[in-house]
This record gives sequence, structure tokens and C-alpha cells, in this order.
Amino acid sequence: MLDWKKIRADFPILNRKVNGKPLVYFDNAATSQTPQQVIDVIVDYYSNYNANIHRGVHSLSQEATDKYEAARHTIQHHFNAKHAYEIILTSGTTESINLVAHGFASLLEKDDEVIVSALEHHSNIVPWQMLCEKTGALLKVIPMNQNGELEMDSYSKLLSNKTKLVFVNHISNALGTINPIEKIIEQAHNVGAAVLIDGAQSCPHVKPDVQALNVDFYVASAHKMCGPTGVGMLYGKEEWLNKLPPYQGGGEMIDQVSFTKTTYAGLPHKFEAGTPNICGGIAFGAALNYMNAIGFNNIAAYEKELLDYGTKRLLEIEGLKIYGTSINKTSVISFNLKGIHPYDVGTLLDKMGIAVRTGHHCAQPIMDYYKIPGTIRASFAFYNTKAEIDTLIEGVKKAKMMLS
Ligand code: PMP
Repeated sequence: MLDWKKIRADFPILNRKVNGKPLVYFDNAATSQTPQQVIDVIVDYYSNYNANIHRGVHSLSQEATDKYEAARHTIQHHFNAKHAYEIILTSGTTESINLVAHGFASLLEKDDEVIVSALEHHSNIVPWQMLCEKTGALLKVIPMNQNGELEMDSYSKLLSNKTKLVFVNHISNALGTINPIEKIIEQAHNVGAAVLIDGAQSCPHVKPDVQALNVDFYVASAHKMCGPTGVGMLYGKEEWLNKLPPYQGGGEMIDQVSFTKTTYAGLPHKFEAGTPNICGGIAFGAALNYMNAIGFNNIAAYEKELLDYGTKRLLEIEGLKIYGTSINKTSVISFNLKGIHPYDVGTLLDKMGIAVRTGHHCAQPIMDYYKIPGTIRASFAFYNTKAEIDTLIEGVKKAKMMLS
């Protein structure tokens, strides 16, 4: 039996007060908090071995390189990639998606089709729209239903031999829906299309196995899984990464440079131009080690308890509506109070020390579908407690009374 109280004590920020009240942090779908174990790794890097990597002969550079490459191996094993060089370290999910979208500009032709879902974060929509503008490819959308689930029959009908790429999130950050990515991948492959899965919201809660999924690209951000901001990953199957051209030009990504011709480095360096976020990469590895020591099965079971408890308690409040599915979801409750703007509720909750997100959660098409300006989103992590949910319930009741 895990001692969740002890685990919570790993997070120093959870001891602070906000507006004079103990912080209740329910904005984990925007970013997670950082445990002392990861903070220590960051302090150790800048205190003891800060140096640029890959090109130094001196000891500090060697040490930093070894630790950075060790982190890449940790990420490889976490996602069960076949090779470490299939893990590209990026600044986060957004950059990973842009890297792939940039590469596909040289692979797509006019009237090719690419498929997105109605449940996406803007960062898994806009780069593809830009790609379509550049290439003349057509963007098709898998529709959603009132339960916040994808219409899989429509998906089957959208697929054809014109489909070149499908990009869908594993779990929706706005509603928490777990999408049937196994089926999505299999059906896309049946027509010869590649698949990119946006794992930004899934990776804090589940441990994806990219080989078992047989996915072509999988992307994530460290900051949503107890790591620092400004670092993330792109997993790509070796054959796909070899097909894509480099993303940015610069140092580190070259083999030979002359004014007549430059040749590029092999994987993963071909996609890693310039000095990377060295400390961030190392801390990303430390964050994965931290979460794996707790265990993703334990995290999922505990977070389900929180989700079920939070859902039940919130629904006790009259006039409160929860958006999206009640099954097949993780750690997100998106809701509104009848006749009250979500922003007003969020502002009052903040005065009580409760951090939730209000608005469209970078997923405007979902809000348009429900014809609402936004929602109040409480998103949980394994360091939250039922007592904090009770505080949220009291807060929402109070806000409702004040705003009605
Ligand atoms: N996709 C999803 C599903 C997300 O939740 C997020 C972050 N909230 C992103 C993409 C973008 O991630 P980042 O801002 O870290 O690049």
C-alpha cells in the first residue's frame, strides 16, 4: 500500500498559501507540480556539472553528455521505443508536432488528405492547417458526440487511400476522454496512413507502449509529468524519422558543412539543432524515474478514486453540468454552473486558494460544439486528496451563492 501522504510531502509547493489559504492545486492538466527529487536534479546540474554537451573533451562536458544521453535512454525505456535514437528531445509537445508537420510538407501532395479529431488541443490543429495551406492537402475532422467521444463510424468513412496522416490525442485535456487510439491506429494503417498521437494529457496518467501500439509518432511534454517546462519528446519510428527532412538548421545537426553543401547528422541529432535544454532533458528523465517508482498502475487506481469522488460530489450541486463522458476518462472534470460565467467562478475560487482553469483550454472547437464560452476545469494528479475535493465543493457552492 502506497503512502500517498508521504508522496504528497515530496512537493514543496503544496505547502504554500495562496490568498491566505492553503493552496489546492487542481490545474494539473495545464502543468503538474515538481517533486523535490526533480528539483534536486536541476540544482545539482547547475551547481556541479553545467556544460555544453556532445562536443567537449573536458570532464564537465562529458558528464553532462552522459547524463543527457542517459535521460534519453530512460525516456526510451519508459515508452518502450526500440531504439534510443527514435527519441527526439524537443521543447515540448507543440514543437514535436510542428517538427512532424514541417517534415510532411515534403511528403504530401495537393488533394492528399489528413485527419484530425474534434477533440484536439490547438497545438494538434494549427500546425496541420498550416501544412495544408502549404501543400494543398485537405484537413478532415472526426466528429464528436455529446458525451465528448469520437464518432468512430464517421472515422471509418473518412479513411481512404487518399489519407496520408491521422493525428489524434490519446486523452483530451479539455474533457478527459480516453480515445480508442488502438482502433484509430489500426484502421489508419489499413489504408496506408501514418498516425501521430498527442500524448501531452495521457502521459501523466498512463504509460504508453509505442511498440505495442505500433504508432508512427507519439509526442509528450515533461512539464505535465512532474518535469520542468521547455522540454518534451517526439517518438518516431526509425523509418519515418529517416523519411522526414531536418526541422531546423544549425549546430549539432550536421555531419559536414561547407558553402557548397551540408550533410546532416544521423538520428536523433538530425532533429536537434543548437544547444538543447540540457538540464531540462536530464530532469525529464528524473521525473519519469520518480513517477515509475510510484508506479502508473498505482497512480491510475488512486486517480480513479479521486475522479469518481469528485464527480459524485460535484453532481450534488444543483445546476452543475459536467461535460463529456462519465466512463473511459481520466483526471479531468470540466463543468459549468447554470447561468454563471466560468471565469467568475474561477476568480472566486482563486480567492479561496483553489487553482482551477477556466476558458476553452486551447480546445475552442469543443466549446463551439457545446455552444459554451468555456468551462471550469478541475484536473487531478496523484498528489491531490479527497479533502482537497471537499474544499473545492465548498468553494463552488460559495461561488454559486455569491454569483446567483
Ligand atoms: N496537446 C494536449 C492534449 C495538451 O494538453 C497540451 C498542453 N496542455 C498540448 C498539446 C501542448 O503542450 P505544450 O504546451 O507543452 O507544448
